[in-house]
Amino acid sequence: MNILVTGGAGYIGSHTCVELLNAGYDIVVMDNLYNSCEKSLEAVKKITGKDFPFYKCDMLDYEATEKIFKENKIDGVIHFAGLKAVGESCRIPLTYYHNNITGTLNLLDIMEKYNVFNMVFSSSATVYGSPKTVPIKEDFPLSTASPYGSTKLMIENILRDVYGANNKWSITLLRYFNPIGAHESGTMGEDPKGIPNNLLPYIAQVAVGRLECLSVFGNDYPTPDGTCVRDYIHVVDLAIGHVKTVDKKSNEPGVHIYNLGTGNGYSVLEVVKAFEDACGKPINFKIAPRRAGDIPECYADATKAKEELGWTAERDIAKMCEDNWRWQKLNPNGYNG
Ligand code: NAD
Ligand code: UDP
Repeated sequence: MNILVTGGAGYIGSHTCVELLNAGYDIVVMDNLYNSCEKSLEAVKKITGKDFPFYKCDMLDYEATEKIFKENKIDGVIHFAGLKAVGESCRIPLTYYHNNITGTLNLLDIMEKYNVFNMVFSSSATVYGSPKTVPIKEDFPLSTASPYGSTKLMIENILRDVYGANNKWSITLLRYFNPIGAHESGTMGEDPKGIPNNLLPYIAQVAVGRLECLSVFGNDYPTPDGTCVRDYIHVVDLAIGHVKTVDKKSNEPGVHIYNLGTGNGYSVLEVVKAFEDACGKPINFKIAPRRAGDIPECYADATKAKEELGWTAERDIAKMCEDNWRWQKLNPNGYNG
């Protein structure tokens, strides 16, 4: 089976390419390299010993995207490509809507044209908004608080409508919790441009000396230590979740929805401690005001993925931090070091 991986040079996409190739799938990768670089794909090839076609292509460019389908027999698409920074999406919402939505519409149109009715979509726990209770189940109410989140929810709805109109489609919406960690080889990992927005890359850059001090956003939340609780999941477990999805759902028409999380919540201070244990040095941090839009607690009920996909996250927080630190230590400046 030949899978087109959009956004395949990115953080989650590149790790998924490794697991797909290891599982015996063929892949074609497309990415405009807006938030990534080709070195991640060189790492994929080195780790797996396998080659694959790469198209430096923007999904907003209809003809260039169609060319991929003309030149390759594609059986299914894993759709990672998109812009993903919550804060930035509030500043430039039109760019986010255009890129994420128009890009996806182009892709879906081309897929129908080439009789490819199989898509796995990167959604996010952000579509649950501010849940009333935790753990979060797939049938909880949906709402969003940022243009980024709205693009995810809108695409979910578009995909439901696409299936509604043609029930040949097999669509899986994977709602990720907080992906962290890196490939254990230390050759692939997250490489954010500029100052990181997310917790783990920020901590890792403090540990390696690129940044001075972590700001912990709020310690007065109704959680055990006052800092926010999230469900951190190792990016390799997440990648394997995609392989299991393709294994189990490719030939099953419908709209399938799964949370991909561990089911465990860790506070910001617990993550700082786990990273200190992994890197063997203290992380300089200070308590700062709450960040707008943060919710106190967010973690998954991941039972449905276990029961229906046969998937559970296996790597614990110590392993996530250990692998994250190895990547950061060996590549202090990311792929362009
Ligand atoms: P990433 O930025 O590393 O990867 C996304 C890739 O898409 C990048 O390589 C980027 O260059 C590419 N891209 C963006 N717009 C494109 C376009 N118009 N045409 C072609 N390529 C384009 O991000 P990631 O962390 O690997 O996330 C992958 C997907 O998972 C995204 O859709 C993201 O919204 C979603 N997601 C991520 C997280 C997270 O915390 N990392 C959580 C939930 C959901
Ligand atoms: N966080 C923090 N300092 C940072 C970045 C994040 O304290 O520099 C906190 C943030 O408030 C949230 C948690 O870490 O409670 C995870 O944030 P991240 O941005 O990584 O993911 P989110 O859950 O917001 O998608």
